[in-house]
Amino acid sequence: MKVIVIGGGPAGMMAAIMAARNGYEVTLLEKMRSLGRKLSITGKGRCNITNASDMDEFIKNVPGNPKFLYSAFSQFTNIDAINFFNEIGVKTKVERGNRVFPVSDNALEVIDKLKKELENRKVKVYVNTEVEEIVVKNSKIEGVRTKKGTLECDKVILATGGKSYPTTGSTGDGYVFAQKLGHTIIEPKGSLVPLEVFENDIKELQGLSLKNVSVKFIDSEKIIYEDFGEMLFTHFGVSGPIILSGSAQILRNKNIVEKMNNRKIKLSIDLKPALTYEMLDARLIRDFEKYSKKQFKNSLNDLLPSKLIPYVVKKTEIAEYKVVDQITKKERQDIINLLKNMKFTIKKFRPIEEAIVTAGGVSTKEINSSTMESKLVSGLFFAGEVIDVDAYTGGFNLQIAYSTAYVAAK
Ligand SMILES: Cc1cc2nc3c(=O)[nH]c(=O)nc-3n(C[C@H](O)[C@H](O)[C@H](O)COP(=O)(O)OP(=O)(O)OC[C@H]3O[C@@H](n4cnc5c(N)ncnc54)[C@H](O)[C@@H]3O)c2cc1C
Repeated sequence: MKVIVIGGGPAGMMAAIMAARNGYEVTLLEKMRSLGRKLSITGKGRCNITNASDMDEFIKNVPGNPKFLYSAFSQFTNIDAINFFNEIGVKTKVERGNRVFPVSDNALEVIDKLKKELENRKVKVYVNTEVEEIVVKNSKIEGVRTKKGTLECDKVILATGGKSYPTTGSTGDGYVFAQKLGHTIIEPKGSLVPLEVFENDIKELQGLSLKNVSVKFIDSEKIIYEDFGEMLFTHFGVSGPIILSGSAQILRNKNIVEKMNNRKIKLSIDLKPALTYEMLDARLIRDFEKYSKKQFKNSLNDLLPSKLIPYVVKKTEIAEYKVVDQITKKERQDIINLLKNMKFTIKKFRPIEEAIVTAGGVSTKEINSSTMESKLVSGLFFAGEVIDVDAYTGGFNLQIAYSTAYVAAK
């Protein structure tokens, strides 16, 4: 039985290895020069392989069609993934938030070991081979047409990924192939994506990274997402882990684009979440006593990162040259309010090209969740991000790739 896997990302490589282990004759086709281009940049080059949390936590971290993934997640769990990687020679470690990384902190090691296993399992790998169509006649898979010619096969596993970071090869080709065969494509949208704000002066904070802050996304007074951790200011707005996760959540809010256009979606940043208003006031009083003869703009160095100070000073509307012992109680309250509730208005999502994952894709309604086989074309299987599923950061998206691939390969 001949199987062709289209796409040499984590889903495609895993599917090819598992199908070969199951005794099939497997060919893996990748259009780029090498396998796993996107995998090589995961986890900032360290590859957050999976997450060690239990199933309940897993499901909570999958905002995009979690129920569809129950079966796949239980057939090939995160523990199975860790065992698999250990077995092929990738030693793993667990970090904060149960995130699993290779001990080497190197995504290239992961790719290298996957490539060796493909070789060991005698998978025929063709890179620089762009697929153009899945050939189906009388509802039966006949083969796959590539730019170089047509290859015959009995089964196809489609693992072409989503549409984000297209320079890695993920350009959404799989959607076109699946659609041509009758599948519905849920509109692909960037998820885990940076956000633009209306306030142009956010540029002044570009490059500033903040740890241990808390953020709230607010839709007309209602909190729609809350998180604590690390964020980053950019020339257009905000990014970093808690912002990306927030974007994945607010993406699913009804009429979100219209609400953004109407300036309804606010971001509130608490720069000092560990301090209550009273504690922060006591802290300010202490600092202001210490720097009582200095100008206001030179009094915040103990409390804030230097890049943030001119911005905060500007926003309080207290004269930057004001001598600190002249600052009034009311002005101190204004500073505290600003530090506990720095507000921005979200303008839009950055384009899908900049998103970590794609939400949307081949409709889960048309895929058998326990086999990943198409309900429309027998012998056609799906694996990875090409399916309309997506998760938060933390290793969950790669686990989706392996679990769906394992099931498809079976
Ligand atoms: C910057 C960044 C960091 C990330 N970090 C993490 C992380 O640490 N942990 C985590 O869990 N997830 C992470 N992700 C998400 C994760 O990388 C993806 O979810 C995962 O790569 C999806 O795997 P896939 O195999 O389905 O698709 P892809 O990795 O996109 O692979 C699809 C492959 O198919 C090939 N292809 C496409 N069209 C064709 C065609 N016509 N013919 C032949 N081949 C084709 C592509 O070239 C590509 O190699 C990150 C993503 C990004 C962008």
